Amino acid sequence: MTAMTMPRPGQCKWTEGDSGNYSFPCTNKAENGSYCAHHRTIVYETPEQRKSRSAQTKFVPFSRRMAA
Ligand SMILES: [Zn+2]
Repeated sequence: MTAMTMPRPGQCKWTEGDSGNYSFPCTNKAENGSYCAHHRTIVYETPEQRKSRSAQTKFVPFSRRMAA
């Protein structure tokens, strides 16, 4: 792990990869927090998005999705 893999101050902290071998591929400027506008919509969902997601989860149980 070198300093080169760390995001620069003000840079989006979106990470890709798995533990011990991840990177910060997004070079967008962070806005209002740790992420750029695009990734912030993914990390912080709106209440409507969360509600629809939980509704989908009830509709299609996780075990069912794994079997499909
Ligand atoms: Zn980003």
